[in-house]
Amino acid sequence: MCRHLAYLGPPVTLAELLFEPAYALVRQSWAPRDMRGGGTINADGFGVGWYPDGGAPVRYRRAQPIWSDPTIAELAAVTRAGAVLAAVRSATVGMAVLDGAAAPFAQDRWLFSHNGVVRGWPDSVVPLAAGLPVRDLLTLDAATDSALLWALVRHRLRAGDDPVEAVGRTVVEVAEAAPGSRLNLLLTDGRRVVASTFGHALSVRATADSVVLASEPHDDDPGWRPVPQQRLVAATADEVRVCELPAR
Ligand code: GLN
Repeated sequence: MCRHLAYLGPPVTLAELLFEPAYALVRQSWAPRDMRGGGTINADGFGVGWYPDGGAPVRYRRAQPIWSDPTIAELAAVTRAGAVLAAVRSATVGMAVLDGAAAPFAQDRWLFSHNGVVRGWPDSVVPLAAGLPVRDLLTLDAATDSALLWALVRHRLRAGDDPVEAVGRTVVEVAEAAPGSRLNLLLTDGRRVVASTFGHALSVRATADSVVLASEPHDDDPGWRPVPQQRLVAATADEVRVCELPAR
């Protein structure tokens, strides 16, 4: 059910993250190694966002398998960035396959992705959606659980939550409203990354000046560390912190 990754560190080409590793995102789209919780391939779209020269992020999203789009391969070969968020999508049954349903979702400096499913969609989260400004609901990128999760996180960021609080509190409130949900979230502003583990795997590989967070290790580097379940990871290029989800 979707695979995502975030990178912070010295500029690399998008190809070094999406295409070149032995088990890169492109390979995970047709042969993921860890699809706990359902799904077989991630062929319902993909997206990548990056920060040119440290400026506001740019995105490229498509509702087709990443392997079937020659443009992303060309773009990735020549595009360098020091902050990247990318995802390949396996649409939950019943959810639309559209460019706008593929992560990353974005606003201002933020990029966001969700790996998982909101159980009981949409009824289970109607009360939470009702707390959002009507304008946010009218302008969702797609009528999907992931787009609503982004609206919930963004609402908290606007209200002044720091990114760790915004992700952690959203996971806790959605898990309570929709038991059995899988809520691996990923959020970056290009300088720090926040991720949650709630139902799906996540691994981290940190070096002295870079960090990759990914649904599954994309190569056999022994530096990959699995993150335990029900945690929040807050990382910059030179520091990784893991903490518990907030108490309800
Ligand atoms: N449920 C979401 C969607 O349909 C997320 C997809 C996933 O993790 N497979 O877009």
